[in-house]
Amino acid sequence: MKSRTKCVVIGGGIAGCSTLYHLTQEGWSDVVLVERDELTSGTTWHSAAQVTNFGMTQTMVGLKSHSIALYKKLRDDPEYPVGYHHGDGGIRLANTEEQMQGYRHFASMARGMGVEYEVIDAAECARRHPLISTDNLLGGLWDGEDGDIDPAQLCQALAFHARKTGAEVYRNTPVTGLTQHKDDTWTVHTQHGAIDCDIVVNAGGYRVNEIGAMMGVQHPVASMEHQYFITEDIPAIAAAGHRMPLLRCPISDYYSRQEKGGLLVGFYEQDCRSWGMDGISPSFSNDLCPDDLDRVMDVLEGAFERMPALADVGIKRIVNGPITYTIDGAPLVGPIPGKRNAFCIIGLRAGLGEGGGHGWLLAQQIVQGEACYDTWVIDPRRFTGHATVEMTALKAIEDYQNEFRFHFPHEHRPAGRNAKTTPLTPVFAAEGAEFTVVNGWERVDYIKPSPDFTPSLSFNFDETFDSVAAEVNTLATNVGLAEVNGFNRIEITGTDRHAFLDRMMCGPVSKRAGRVGLGYLLNAQGCVKAEATVANLPASDRGPDRVWYGSAAASEYHDMDWLTAHLDPDEDVQLRSLTNDHTILVLAGPKARAVLSDCARGDWSADAFPWRSVREGFIGFAPAVVMGVSFSGELAYEIHVPNASLYAAYLALREAGRAYGLCLFGARAIESMRMEKGFLHWKADLITEFDPFETGLSRFVQLDKKDFVGKAALLKRQANGPNKRLVTLKIDTRHAPAHPGASLMQNDQVVGTITSGDYGHRVGMNLAYAFVDPDLASTGSTLELDLCGDRVAAQVSDPSPYDPDFTRVRS
Ligand SMILES: Cc1cc2nc3c(=O)[nH]c(=O)nc-3n(C[C@H](O)[C@H](O)[C@H](O)COP(=O)(O)OP(=O)(O)OC[C@H]3O[C@@H](n4cnc5c(N)ncnc54)[C@H](O)[C@@H]3O)c2cc1C
Repeated sequence: MKSRTKCVVIGGGIAGCSTLYHLTQEGWSDVVLVERDELTSGTTWHSAAQVTNFGMTQTMVGLKSHSIALYKKLRDDPEYPVGYHHGDGGIRLANTEEQMQGYRHFASMARGMGVEYEVIDAAECARRHPLISTDNLLGGLWDGEDGDIDPAQLCQALAFHARKTGAEVYRNTPVTGLTQHKDDTWTVHTQHGAIDCDIVVNAGGYRVNEIGAMMGVQHPVASMEHQYFITEDIPAIAAAGHRMPLLRCPISDYYSRQEKGGLLVGFYEQDCRSWGMDGISPSFSNDLCPDDLDRVMDVLEGAFERMPALADVGIKRIVNGPITYTIDGAPLVGPIPGKRNAFCIIGLRAGLGEGGGHGWLLAQQIVQGEACYDTWVIDPRRFTGHATVEMTALKAIEDYQNEFRFHFPHEHRPAGRNAKTTPLTPVFAAEGAEFTVVNGWERVDYIKPSPDFTPSLSFNFDETFDSVAAEVNTLATNVGLAEVNGFNRIEITGTDRHAFLDRMMCGPVSKRAGRVGLGYLLNAQGCVKAEATVANLPASDRGPDRVWYGSAAASEYHDMDWLTAHLDPDEDVQLRSLTNDHTILVLAGPKARAVLSDCARGDWSADAFPWRSVREGFIGFAPAVVMGVSFSGELAYEIHVPNASLYAAYLALREAGRAYGLCLFGARAIESMRMEKGFLHWKADLITEFDPFETGLSRFVQLDKKDFVGKAALLKRQANGPNKRLVTLKIDTRHAPAHPGASLMQNDQVVGTITSGDYGHRVGMNLAYAFVDPDLASTGSTLELDLCGDRVAAQVSDPSPYDPDFTRVRS
C-alpha cells in the first residue's frame, strides 16, 4: 500500500469508482481508492440499476447524459465489456393535466442539453409498453435513452480502467480515522496502515456519517429501506417481441423494468422506514434488510391494476436494501462545507443512473476547481445549519413517499418546516402571511387574501396573481414593509479588508465610510462565482471600522468558504458571520422616507442620506444599520436589525407606517419587481458557466485594476468573445411565466435558455431573463419560447423596463 498519494477516495461503490475513474481521466494517476470490503458491497451490488436520462434541471440532465455516453463506451469496450441494456426507453406516467404540463416543461428544458423527451398520450404509452392498461391514465413522458446496467460489472470496469492509468485500489481496507494537518493535507488511517494525501473524498454510501465523524462533520444524509421484487417469466413479454420499457408511476408509486423474461418492480410505499439512524452494524456488508412485502400492499395493488399480467406470475426474489436520501432528493457532490481539501459524493438515491455523471463533475471540481456545468443543485453547501440528520430523515420520508411526483413551481412540502424562523414569523403568520422556504428560513411569500386561500399547483400563473399585483401597487404608490431573513452577512474587519476585497472582486470596491457598493467575485475560470453588497461602516460604539459583506441567503456556507480559502495568512483580515443574528426589514415605496423619518432620529433627506448610503441608527429604540439600497426599484431602505430587537423595530415601523397606509409585502412581489429592474439572482441568473461580460455586468468589471481572482482567465474569455449573452425578454402571453430551463428556439434550433421569469406588474409585461446566442441579443430580436410545449413569441427588451434611469431610488 502506498504511504503517500494525491487523493484518497473512500468507498468502492459506484460513487467512489466513478470518481476514481474520472480523476484519472482528468490526468491524475497518483490516486487511490480504499474500500472496507469488496467493491460494490454497500448499496451498489443489489441496485435495480436503472439508468434514466430524466432530470428536472439542465445540470441533472447533462450529468445523466454523460453517464449514458460513458456506459455505452464501457459496454462496447472489448477488453472489459459491461452488460448494459441501453435504449429500452422509459415512461413516466401522468393522470393529471398539471403533470402533463410539467412533463412538457421538462421536455423544453432537456432540449437545451441536446436530449429529446416525448410527451405521449395514454394509447401511445400502452403501445410502447404492451403490459399496461390505460385506465385513469392521461399519458406520460417518454425517454428513449432509458435502460439498465450491471452494477458490479460497471464498477469493476471503472476500477479496471482507472488502474490502467496508475490508480490503485485497496480492498478489504477499512478507513478508521482521518487527520488533517496544519497545511491542510490529510492522513487517512486504515486497518492496514496510513496514507498521507492532499485530498480526501467521502464516497461512503450509507456509512457516510461514520466517515463524516472522522473529520468532525455530520452530513445531511439519511437512509431509507427500499424494496423491489423480481417476477418469474411473463408470457406477454416474450410475445411482445421487444424489451419492455422502464415505467415510473407517480399515481401508485412504483417502478418497473424488464429482468430476464420477467419484471423487476420496485416500491415507494407510504408506510416507509428510515434505516441506520442509531448506527449500522459493522458486519452489515453485502447485506440486505429483512423483506417486508406487507407494507407495500397499497402500492402493489396499483402496480397490479396497471399491469394485470403481474397477477399471473410468481415472485422469484425480493430485495430490501438501504438507499440514501438528502433534504431535497439531489445528492451532495462537491466540497465539504467548512473543510479544506475535502470533498464528498454522497446521498445518491439514483447512483447507478447518475453516478457516472456525478463522478465526472466531482473530478472536474477537484482537479480544475470548477465543473463544466454550474453544480449548485448538487453542491453540499446548499444546505446550512438547519440541515441535521433528523431533519434529513423527515424530508427523506416525505421525498420517498412522493418519489415520482415532481415539485411544482412555488411548491413547498410540509416536512421540516419552521427550521429557521425569526421573532416575526408568528407575527406575520397572524397577519395572514403565506411562507416560502429560503435556505431553511420561513420567508413571507405573500399576504393571503383570505385565511383559507390555497392556490393551485401548476406551471401557469396561479391565483396569487392579483394579491401580488396589489402588493406591488402599494409599493409603487405608497409604502410597504417586508422581512428578508437569512440574508448572508459577513463582517470583515482588519486593516487589509479593502485590499482583500479588491483582490476578490472584479470591479471597483467602495472604500468610503458610509457608502454601499455592489460587486462580483469570479472563479479562476473568470466566471461569476458570487455577488455581494459591500457596506462600509465607520467605527462606533458598536464596532471598529468594518465592512458588511452581504449576499443571498443560500450563499451562507458557499461565500464564507470562498472568502476564507483566499485569505492570505499575512493579511490583517477577520471574517465573522452575522447571518443568523440579524434580519433585514425592507421599507420601500415613495413614502418610505416619511415613515423612516417618523420612527428614526436623524436627517434622512436625499441630501443627507442619498441612495447607496449606510448609517447606524435606531428604529424607535431598536439598534439598526440602515442602507439606502433597493431591489424593488422604488425608494427603499434595508434596515438590518439584531434579532433580539427585531420585534421592537417592527412595532416602531408599523406604528409610524399607520399614518401612511403601510402594508406588508412578500417575496413574490420582490421577485416581480426585480425582474422589471434587470436585477439578477445568484444561482438563477448568476452562474459559473458565464463570465460577467456574458451576464451583462460589464459596468462592474475594472480590467485596469492591478489583479483580481479570475482576471487572467477573464481576459482570455474576453478575447474569445461571448458564448451567450444574458437578455431581458418580453414574453407574448399572459397565462404562464417563462420557467427556468425552458428553451428558446429559432428555426427549430435551441438558441437560448431561460434563467428566471415572472410577470412585471408595474410595466404590465410578462418578463424573463435568458442566456441567448450573442447574435440574437440585441433589443428587438424575436425568438420563440417553448413554454410547456407551446411556442410563444419572446422579444428581447431593454434590460431595465421599469424606471431605467433609476430616478425613483434616488428620489
Ligand atoms: C433496492 C434498491 C434499488 C435501487 N435501484 C436503483 C436504480 O434502479 N437506479 C439507480 O440509479 N439507483 C438505484 N438505487 C440506488 C443506487 O443503488 C445507489 O444510489 C448507489 O448504489 C449508491 O452508491 P454509493 O457508491 O454511493 O454507495 P455504496 O454502494 O453503498 O458504496 C459505498 C462504499 O463505501 C464503503 N465504505 C463505507 N465505509 C467505509 C470505510 N470506513 N472505509 C472504506 N470503505 C468504506 C462501503 O463498503 C461501500 O462499498 C437503488 C438502491 C436500492 C437500495
